[in-house]
Order: sequence, then C-alpha cells, then structure tokens
Amino acid sequence: MNQNRVDEYRRNFMTTLGGVAAVAAVAPSFVLQTAHAAGEVAAKPVDQAVTNAKRWGMLIDVTKLTDGGAGMVAACKKEHGWGDETHSADTQKAHWARVVKVTDKLTKNSFSLPVMCQHCENPPCVDVCPTGASMKRADGIVQVNKHICIGCRYCMMACPYKARSFVHEALQDQKPHSPRGMGTVESCNMCVHRIDEGKLPACVEAAPDAVIFGDLNDPNSAVSQAMKTIGGKQIRADLGLNTGVRYHGI
Ligand code: SF4
Ligand code: SF4
Repeated sequence: MNQNRVDEYRRNFMTTLGGVAAVAAVAPSFVLQTAHAAGEVAAKPVDQAVTNAKRWGMLIDVTKLTDGGAGMVAACKKEHGWGDETHSADTQKAHWARVVKVTDKLTKNSFSLPVMCQHCENPPCVDVCPTGASMKRADGIVQVNKHICIGCRYCMMACPYKARSFVHEALQDQKPHSPRGMGTVESCNMCVHRIDEGKLPACVEAAPDAVIFGDLNDPNSAVSQAMKTIGGKQIRADLGLNTGVRYHGI
C-alpha cells in the first residue's frame, strides 16, 4: 500500500463512520437468546497447532451497548494492563480499544461504538511489516510478535482503524499473559491467551447481551447464525479487508 492510499484511508475514516450513522435506524435489532449466548470457544489441546479450520470473530450490537462500549474498553484495559503509562502524554498512551462517538452531520443523531483491531482477513499492517512481527495466525487473529518488532511503526500508519499504539516508556507490573515492551507496537490480540484456554475474550464477557463471539467458519455457530439473520457491517467495508469484527446498529 502506498502512503497516499494510507492517508486517504485516514482522512475518510471518521467521515464514513458519520455516513453509516444515517442508515442505522432502518436496521433490524436482534436479541440474544440468553445472557449466556455471548459465544462459544472450543479449547484446543496445547500440543495441537493452530489451523485455519476456525476463524475467530465477533458481532457487536451497538444498540444493546447501554454505555456505548465503555465497559468493553475497561475490561480490555484491566485484562491487559494498558493505558496506565505514567510518563506518556495522553496521546501517546496505549489504546487497544477505544470508544468512538459518531454524529451524523445533518441529523445530529449520535451513537458510540467500541473500536479495536478488526482482525482483517487482508491486513495492511501485516503487508507493511519489514520483520514479520505483525502477523496473522491461521485462525484469523492478528497480533504483534514483540520479540521481533523493531518499533518502526509502519503498521500503525497502515492500519485504517487506528487500532495500534506504541509503548513509549518502560513498564512495571505487567500481566504475565500479556507481556508488553517499551519500543514495540501493540493492539487487541483478541485475547488469544483466553481463546487458547477455551475462554471468551474479556470484552465479550463484559457485554454478554451485546456481543457474540465464535467461529466465523462454522455456519452453525451462534455468531454465524446471527450474522446470517441480521448481517454484520464492517467499518469501511469499501476497503475490502473482510474484518473479523462486525457491527450491528451502525
Ligand atoms: S485493524 Fe489494523 S491492526 Fe488490526 S488487522 Fe486490520 S490493519 Fe491490522
Ligand atoms: S478481544 Fe481482548 S484484547 Fe481485544 S478488545 Fe476485547 S478484551 Fe481487548
């Protein structure tokens, strides 16, 4: 991807989010069957390799998020310990997930949605990484290998969702399951440590009535069934990235 294209993505991102707000009212709402219908995750044996048999993803119903997604962001922060950097300016602090407010220019109708790494099938962040640190697992999870990230931040420039951030300072008291390192890039990793243990991502657990998580390759999974019925919009679908995170009500 050339730099002009990246800049174009960035310029248009918020504008287009505003555009989708105008059509939000006509979409049907969906109701989860039970409070426990947040999804299903089948743990794989630890000695078994990750394969492309599954593709993990989630559907977020924005109309069911009474707090606009703040609880999901707080759960992510707690799970991974990001955002409490003491020597970084607010604009420098990590943001694995953030609440984005969208207002339609004409009607002034507003809504909020949580935005994190969208786990693109065709991720530009992976395309531009010179070391292979930015990588996509066979099951669709996009993450950063901190051991080989050289902090060039090309992936941050390439990501049209502004999903990645850079660690500017030495960190203390890190979570053992989510190591972070000064001078490296990081982003939502779909709580891969939890998925590999057969658990749901932390943000999904925090909003069980609004989010369904599961295997997008399985037509019978709860998330696939919900998307088949009510759809699952991508932010900036025009980019053709086929995101694993989908939304309803935007
Ligand atoms: S949302 Fe950004 S960081 Fe995540 S996979 Fe897509 S391009 Fe990469
Ligand atoms: S899946 Fe995990 S890392 Fe990603 S936003 Fe949710 S809590 Fe954060």
